[in-house]
Amino acid sequence: MDTKYIFVTGGVVSSLGKGIISSSLACLLKARGLRVTIQKFDPYINIDPGTLNPYEHGECYVTEDGHEADLDLGHYERFTNVHTSRANNVTTGRIYQSVIDKERRGDYLGKTVQIVPHITDEIKRRVKYLGNTGNYDYIITEIGGTVGDIESLPFLEAVRQLRWELGSNSLCVHLTYVPYIAAAKELKTKPTQHSVKALQEVGIQPDILVLRTEKEISPEMRRKIALFCNVAQDSVVQSIDVNSIYKVPLMMHAQHLDEIVLRKTCMPVEGEPQMAPWLAFIDKLEHAEKTVKIGLVGKYVELQDAYKSINEALFHAATYADRKLELVYVHSEKLTEGNVSEKLGDMDGVIIAPGFGQRGIDGKFVALKWCRENDVPTFGICLGMQCMVIEFARNVLGLEDANSTEMNPHTPENVIDLMEEQKNISNMGGTMRLGAYDCRLRAGSKAAEAYGKEFIRERHRHRFEFNNDYRDRFEAAGMACVGENPDAQLVEVVEMPSKRWYIGTQYHPEYSSTVLSPSPIFASFIEAAIDYHDEKATK
Ligand code: GLN
Repeated sequence: MDTKYIFVTGGVVSSLGKGIISSSLACLLKARGLRVTIQKFDPYINIDPGTLNPYEHGECYVTEDGHEADLDLGHYERFTNVHTSRANNVTTGRIYQSVIDKERRGDYLGKTVQIVPHITDEIKRRVKYLGNTGNYDYIITEIGGTVGDIESLPFLEAVRQLRWELGSNSLCVHLTYVPYIAAAKELKTKPTQHSVKALQEVGIQPDILVLRTEKEISPEMRRKIALFCNVAQDSVVQSIDVNSIYKVPLMMHAQHLDEIVLRKTCMPVEGEPQMAPWLAFIDKLEHAEKTVKIGLVGKYVELQDAYKSINEALFHAATYADRKLELVYVHSEKLTEGNVSEKLGDMDGVIIAPGFGQRGIDGKFVALKWCRENDVPTFGICLGMQCMVIEFARNVLGLEDANSTEMNPHTPENVIDLMEEQKNISNMGGTMRLGAYDCRLRAGSKAAEAYGKEFIRERHRHRFEFNNDYRDRFEAAGMACVGENPDAQLVEVVEMPSKRWYIGTQYHPEYSSTVLSPSPIFASFIEAAIDYHDEKATK
């Protein structure tokens, strides 16, 4: 069969959840046995979101092949259980970079290089890149931004051309917002009409409309929208607010979104998607009564999206353990010796977040010392693991000045340091250890027990490493280096065997936790937190 291309655009306002709709559709098509991938085209000029700070763009997600990606790729993986790659995330910056590189090489043979056709051709080439591998039946392309943005125009022009070329092998799903005006007690369709008009003005007729709404949209209102927007009535679908994003695929299926897509792309509509494992997860989510309370110590507590993958990985683990997740953000800059027991006192487990730079670091040390001394299940991720190492060096090994050279380049006790080969790199983009690396876990360690195996692969995003010169001293004093990269002997996991659950990972296990394949180490952490909770309750 020909590869089918689905474009997902958005209108009216941003943050409507194009990523969740794209992921939900992919989830349903995949459950019908089709091979699906989702890609995100972002109109900003950064080459990738790696250099964006979380205030700008939430978490930076990392793919297996080491691409620093938009956080929507995390949703794609969590919903489809399919790995994404560098090719699944393209920005205006990357498009321009390759066009300019070609121009400098003389590939355009003296022609004037223009947005149309050169930029649009490059966009089209990249849209079709994964389709041309023959590995997928459906390629879903989410266009970032909102219709009407200046930056989106070349992408929409490319979509217009592709729709023309691909005919019934393509379609456009447009997501809009139907606001509820409380004073008038009415839902309003006008913004949707305007947004579709804006799309039509650039030559794109949407085939399916998904309407984000807080209240039920009546059949009558759907008829009206269908009529004004040239869309079939059964192709006007609502996306009403729900308490979990993981219910959206079911909600879309109840309105036959998957069937409409199959029909419109000339595919047979047979049977039902195999959603049994997904439904089992939703069932657990609906029926969990008890709670597990986790404190996340980090410096971006006011940002919903800064620790997105950690939230989701914790949520997967808690749900499978039949618990509701109560996640408490603890601001690392506000933690002191004086308030730590009050702030962390009733947590069942504590996560020390990843991060960069000095800000908030002292609070992480305070939290770690308290957790270690009180034997609270504690999970340090990336910078969190590095802080575990530093805190242990300072307070157990007695190396008062122990630090990471990231925080103090002249520290006499560089327990966390750069790898030799990185020392001369100054360009900030792409100098990190990124993507999936092998790790061998020590037999009998808690980490090996959590994974149920000794060889694992997890994703990384960091520059600094545990300094192996100190390894023996740590081992002797009770912090074991139980995970190691077999090729470079880099320490990937530390743990304190004497504690309930005190583990730090240099990698980010949260990136690979999906609904159908939750992270084993998060599961183990949540189990330890539940045990600790029960133990406290019986005291
Ligand atoms: N700042 C640390 C490093 O670069 C940790 C990075 C992280 O937590 N992702 O090594």
